[in-house]
Amino acid sequence: MTQTATGWVKIVGLGPGNESMVTAQVQEVLTEATDVVGYIPYVKRIPERPGLTLHATDNRVEIERATHALEMAATGKRVAVVSSGDPGVFAMASAVFEALEVANNPDWLNLDIQVLPGITAMLAASARIGAPMGHDFAAINLSDNLKPWSLIEKRLRLAGEAGFAMGFYNPRSKSRPHQFGRALEILRQACGGETLISFARDVSKPGETITTVTLDEATAEMADMRTVVIVGNADTRRVGRHVYTPRYAKEG
Ligand code: SAH
Repeated sequence: MTQTATGWVKIVGLGPGNESMVTAQVQEVLTEATDVVGYIPYVKRIPERPGLTLHATDNRVEIERATHALEMAATGKRVAVVSSGDPGVFAMASAVFEALEVANNPDWLNLDIQVLPGITAMLAASARIGAPMGHDFAAINLSDNLKPWSLIEKRLRLAGEAGFAMGFYNPRSKSRPHQFGRALEILRQACGGETLISFARDVSKPGETITTVTLDEATAEMADMRTVVIVGNADTRRVGRHVYTPRYAKEG
Protein backbone atom coordinates (compact mmCIF):
# COMPACT_ATOMS: atom_id res chain seq x y z
CA MET A 1 0.00 0.00 0.00
CA THR A 2 1.36 3.43 -0.84
CA GLN A 3 0.65 6.63 0.97
CA THR A 4 -1.10 9.40 -0.91
CA ALA A 5 -0.68 13.11 -0.22
CA THR A 6 -4.23 13.62 1.01
CA GLY A 7 -4.78 10.84 3.52
CA TRP A 8 -4.70 11.57 7.23
CA VAL A 9 -5.77 10.34 10.63
CA LYS A 10 -6.95 12.95 13.11
CA ILE A 11 -7.75 11.61 16.55
CA VAL A 12 -10.26 14.01 18.03
CA GLY A 13 -11.96 14.58 21.37
CA LEU A 14 -15.69 15.32 21.33
CA GLY A 15 -15.76 16.71 24.88
CA PRO A 16 -18.08 15.51 27.65
CA GLY A 17 -21.31 15.57 25.64
CA ASN A 18 -22.62 19.08 25.02
CA GLU A 19 -22.03 20.15 21.42
CA SER A 20 -20.98 23.62 22.53
CA MET A 21 -17.97 21.99 24.18
CA VAL A 22 -16.58 20.53 20.93
CA THR A 23 -13.67 22.75 19.90
CA ALA A 24 -13.84 24.68 16.62
CA GLN A 25 -10.73 22.80 15.48
CA VAL A 26 -12.46 19.43 15.96
CA GLN A 27 -15.65 20.64 14.26
CA GLU A 28 -13.56 21.60 11.23
CA VAL A 29 -11.93 18.18 11.08
CA LEU A 30 -15.37 16.55 11.19
CA THR A 31 -16.48 18.58 8.16
CA GLU A 32 -13.34 17.59 6.21
CA ALA A 33 -13.33 13.87 7.04
CA THR A 34 -14.33 11.17 4.55
CA ASP A 35 -14.56 8.55 7.32
CA VAL A 36 -15.31 8.57 11.03
CA VAL A 37 -14.18 5.68 13.20
CA GLY A 38 -15.10 5.07 16.83
CA TYR A 39 -17.10 3.42 19.57
CA ILE A 40 -20.84 3.28 18.72
CA PRO A 41 -22.19 5.99 21.12
CA TYR A 42 -19.52 8.48 20.08
CA VAL A 43 -20.00 7.90 16.34
CA LYS A 44 -23.75 8.44 16.91
CA ARG A 45 -22.93 12.03 17.82
CA ILE A 46 -21.65 12.74 14.28
CA PRO A 47 -24.33 13.97 11.85
CA GLU A 48 -24.55 12.02 8.61
CA ARG A 49 -23.77 13.84 5.36
CA PRO A 50 -23.04 12.86 1.75
CA GLY A 51 -19.43 11.78 1.28
CA LEU A 52 -18.99 10.71 4.90
CA THR A 53 -18.86 7.06 5.94
CA LEU A 54 -19.43 6.26 9.62
CA HIS A 55 -17.67 3.18 11.02
CA ALA A 56 -19.09 2.45 14.49
CA THR A 57 -17.62 -0.47 16.39
CA ASP A 58 -18.15 -2.03 19.79
CA ASN A 59 -16.15 -1.44 22.94
CA ARG A 60 -12.86 -3.30 23.52
CA VAL A 61 -11.83 -3.48 19.85
CA GLU A 62 -9.68 -0.36 20.00
CA ILE A 63 -6.63 -1.78 18.22
CA GLU A 64 -8.65 -3.22 15.32
CA ARG A 65 -10.47 0.10 15.01
CA ALA A 66 -7.19 2.02 15.04
CA THR A 67 -5.62 -0.31 12.45
CA HIS A 68 -8.64 0.18 10.20
CA ALA A 69 -8.22 3.97 10.48
CA LEU A 70 -4.54 3.72 9.49
CA GLU A 71 -5.35 1.40 6.56
CA MET A 72 -7.93 3.84 5.22
CA ALA A 73 -5.62 6.85 5.60
CA ALA A 74 -2.92 4.96 3.70
CA THR A 75 -5.31 4.71 0.74
CA GLY A 76 -5.94 8.47 0.77
CA LYS A 77 -8.97 8.73 3.07
CA ARG A 78 -9.33 11.54 5.61
CA VAL A 79 -10.13 9.66 8.78
CA ALA A 80 -11.40 11.17 12.03
CA VAL A 81 -11.04 8.81 14.99
CA VAL A 82 -13.46 10.01 17.66
CA SER A 83 -13.30 9.66 21.43
CA SER A 84 -15.40 11.31 24.09
CA GLY A 85 -13.71 13.94 26.23
CA ASP A 86 -10.03 14.12 25.33
CA PRO A 87 -8.62 11.45 23.00
CA GLY A 88 -5.43 11.20 25.06
CA VAL A 89 -7.25 10.33 28.31
CA PHE A 90 -8.10 6.60 28.50
CA ALA A 91 -9.08 6.74 24.85
CA MET A 92 -8.13 6.26 21.20
CA ALA A 93 -4.92 8.29 20.80
CA SER A 94 -2.76 5.68 22.53
CA ALA A 95 -4.58 2.89 20.67
CA VAL A 96 -3.68 4.46 17.30
CA PHE A 97 -0.01 4.74 18.24
CA GLU A 98 -0.02 1.19 19.57
CA ALA A 99 -1.56 -0.04 16.31
CA LEU A 100 1.06 1.92 14.37
CA GLU A 101 3.84 0.29 16.38
CA VAL A 102 2.40 -3.24 16.12
CA ALA A 103 1.81 -2.96 12.35
CA ASN A 104 5.47 -2.10 11.82
CA ASN A 105 4.65 -0.78 8.34
CA PRO A 106 7.28 1.78 7.23
CA ASP A 107 4.78 3.55 4.92
CA TRP A 108 2.44 4.20 7.82
CA LEU A 109 5.16 5.98 9.81
CA ASN A 110 4.98 8.82 7.28
CA LEU A 111 1.21 9.20 7.49
CA ASP A 112 -0.16 12.52 8.68
CA ILE A 113 -1.39 11.58 12.17
CA GLN A 114 -2.55 14.28 14.57
CA VAL A 115 -4.18 14.34 17.98
CA LEU A 116 -6.65 17.17 18.62
CA PRO A 117 -7.57 17.73 22.27
CA GLY A 118 -10.99 17.88 23.85
CA ILE A 119 -12.38 18.72 27.28
CA THR A 120 -11.94 15.66 29.45
CA ALA A 121 -14.74 14.54 31.82
CA MET A 122 -12.67 15.18 34.94
CA LEU A 123 -12.08 18.84 34.08
CA ALA A 124 -15.62 19.44 32.83
CA ALA A 125 -16.85 18.02 36.15
CA SER A 126 -14.34 20.06 38.17
CA ALA A 127 -15.58 23.24 36.55
CA ARG A 128 -19.18 22.41 37.54
CA ILE A 129 -18.13 21.59 41.11
CA GLY A 130 -15.92 24.64 41.59
CA ALA A 131 -12.16 24.11 41.59
CA PRO A 132 -11.41 20.73 43.25
CA MET A 133 -8.39 20.22 40.96
CA GLY A 134 -6.89 23.59 41.90
CA HIS A 135 -3.74 21.94 43.23
CA ASP A 136 -1.83 18.73 42.30
CA PHE A 137 -4.01 15.86 41.11
CA ALA A 138 -4.01 12.36 39.63
CA ALA A 139 -6.38 10.87 37.05
CA ILE A 140 -7.00 7.14 37.54
CA ASN A 141 -9.00 4.70 35.44
CA LEU A 142 -10.73 2.28 37.83
CA SER A 143 -11.37 -0.32 35.12
CA ASP A 144 -9.26 -3.44 35.38
CA ASN A 145 -9.74 -4.38 31.70
CA LEU A 146 -6.21 -3.35 30.83
CA LYS A 147 -4.37 -3.56 34.17
CA PRO A 148 -4.57 -5.73 37.29
CA TRP A 149 -6.83 -4.64 40.15
CA SER A 150 -3.86 -4.91 42.55
CA LEU A 151 -2.14 -2.08 40.66
CA ILE A 152 -5.28 0.08 40.90
CA GLU A 153 -5.38 -0.46 44.68
CA LYS A 154 -1.70 0.48 44.97
CA ARG A 155 -2.14 3.67 42.93
CA LEU A 156 -5.23 4.71 44.90
CA ARG A 157 -3.45 4.22 48.20
CA LEU A 158 -0.26 6.00 47.19
CA ALA A 159 -2.03 8.90 45.46
CA GLY A 160 -4.22 9.34 48.54
CA GLU A 161 -1.27 9.19 50.92
CA ALA A 162 0.64 11.68 48.74
CA GLY A 163 -2.23 14.16 49.08
CA PHE A 164 -3.25 14.30 45.43
CA ALA A 165 -6.80 15.24 44.56
CA MET A 166 -8.06 12.48 42.23
CA GLY A 167 -10.38 11.99 39.29
CA PHE A 168 -11.71 8.47 38.65
CA TYR A 169 -12.88 7.32 35.24
CA ASN A 170 -14.96 4.15 34.63
CA PRO A 171 -15.61 3.95 38.38
CA ARG A 172 -18.15 1.16 38.63
CA SER A 173 -19.54 -1.19 35.99
CA LYS A 174 -22.07 -4.02 36.21
CA SER A 175 -19.33 -6.56 35.48
CA ARG A 176 -17.30 -5.48 38.54
CA PRO A 177 -19.80 -4.17 41.10
CA HIS A 178 -17.70 -4.72 44.24
CA GLN A 179 -14.50 -2.99 43.31
CA PHE A 180 -15.68 0.58 43.81
CA GLY A 181 -16.72 -0.22 47.40
CA ARG A 182 -13.20 -1.52 47.97
CA ALA A 183 -11.78 1.67 46.38
CA LEU A 184 -13.79 3.78 48.86
CA GLU A 185 -12.40 1.75 51.76
CA ILE A 186 -8.83 2.35 50.61
CA LEU A 187 -9.50 6.06 50.17
CA ARG A 188 -10.97 6.41 53.67
CA GLN A 189 -7.82 4.86 55.09
CA ALA A 190 -5.44 6.85 52.91
CA CYS A 191 -7.17 10.27 52.96
CA GLY A 192 -9.44 10.27 56.04
CA GLY A 193 -13.24 10.00 56.15
CA GLU A 194 -13.83 13.78 56.18
CA THR A 195 -12.33 14.25 52.71
CA LEU A 196 -14.85 15.54 50.15
CA ILE A 197 -15.87 13.33 47.23
CA SER A 198 -18.06 14.45 44.32
CA PHE A 199 -20.04 12.27 41.93
CA ALA A 200 -20.57 14.01 38.61
CA ARG A 201 -22.95 12.15 36.29
CA ASP A 202 -23.74 13.03 32.68
CA VAL A 203 -21.74 16.24 32.91
CA SER A 204 -22.90 18.81 30.33
CA LYS A 205 -25.72 16.49 29.19
CA PRO A 206 -29.46 16.60 29.93
CA GLY A 207 -30.07 15.22 33.42
CA GLU A 208 -26.61 16.15 34.73
CA THR A 209 -26.26 15.55 38.48
CA ILE A 210 -23.47 16.62 40.82
CA THR A 211 -23.41 15.34 44.42
CA THR A 212 -20.74 16.14 47.00
CA VAL A 213 -20.44 14.21 50.29
CA THR A 214 -17.62 13.10 52.61
CA LEU A 215 -15.83 9.81 52.07
CA ASP A 216 -17.56 8.51 55.23
CA GLU A 217 -20.95 9.29 53.68
CA ALA A 218 -20.12 7.92 50.21
CA THR A 219 -21.58 4.61 49.05
CA ALA A 220 -20.63 2.53 46.03
CA GLU A 221 -24.09 2.95 44.45
CA MET A 222 -23.42 6.67 43.97
CA ALA A 223 -21.20 5.87 40.97
CA ASP A 224 -21.79 4.17 37.63
CA MET A 225 -20.12 4.23 34.22
CA ARG A 226 -21.70 7.60 33.39
CA THR A 227 -20.10 9.17 36.45
CA VAL A 228 -16.69 10.70 36.91
CA VAL A 229 -15.71 10.75 40.59
CA ILE A 230 -13.64 13.57 42.06
CA VAL A 231 -11.89 13.22 45.43
CA GLY A 232 -10.36 16.29 47.03
CA ASN A 233 -7.23 16.51 49.14
CA ALA A 234 -7.09 17.30 52.88
CA ASP A 235 -7.46 21.05 52.17
CA THR A 236 -10.42 20.76 49.78
CA ARG A 237 -13.43 22.56 51.25
CA ARG A 238 -16.80 24.09 50.61
CA VAL A 239 -17.52 27.76 50.20
CA GLY A 240 -21.27 28.27 49.80
CA ARG A 241 -22.43 25.95 46.98
CA HIS A 242 -18.89 25.55 45.65
CA VAL A 243 -16.06 23.12 46.40
CA TYR A 244 -12.47 24.20 45.93
CA THR A 245 -8.91 23.15 46.65
CA PRO A 246 -6.58 25.98 47.61
CA ARG A 247 -3.55 26.63 45.41
CA TYR A 248 -1.19 26.08 48.34
CA ALA A 249 -0.45 22.99 50.46
CA LYS A 250 0.89 22.59 53.96
CA GLU A 251 4.10 20.68 54.45
CA GLY A 252 3.62 16.99 53.48
N1 SAH B 1 -11.66 10.13 26.92
C1 SAH B 1 -12.72 10.35 27.88
C2 SAH B 1 -12.78 9.27 28.95
C3 SAH B 1 -13.18 7.90 28.44
S1 SAH B 1 -13.39 6.74 29.72
C4 SAH B 1 -12.51 11.74 28.54
O1 SAH B 1 -11.46 12.34 28.34
O2 SAH B 1 -13.44 12.21 29.23
C5 SAH B 1 -15.15 6.82 30.00
C6 SAH B 1 -15.44 7.41 31.37
O3 SAH B 1 -15.32 8.82 31.32
C7 SAH B 1 -16.82 7.15 31.92
O4 SAH B 1 -16.94 5.88 32.54
C8 SAH B 1 -16.96 8.28 32.95
O5 SAH B 1 -16.22 7.95 34.11
C9 SAH B 1 -16.23 9.41 32.24
N2 SAH B 1 -17.12 10.32 31.50
C10 SAH B 1 -17.12 10.56 30.18
N3 SAH B 1 -18.05 11.50 29.85
C11 SAH B 1 -18.65 11.85 31.00
C12 SAH B 1 -19.69 12.77 31.34
N4 SAH B 1 -20.29 13.53 30.42
N5 SAH B 1 -20.06 12.87 32.64
C13 SAH B 1 -19.46 12.12 33.59
N6 SAH B 1 -18.47 11.23 33.33
C14 SAH B 1 -18.07 11.10 32.06
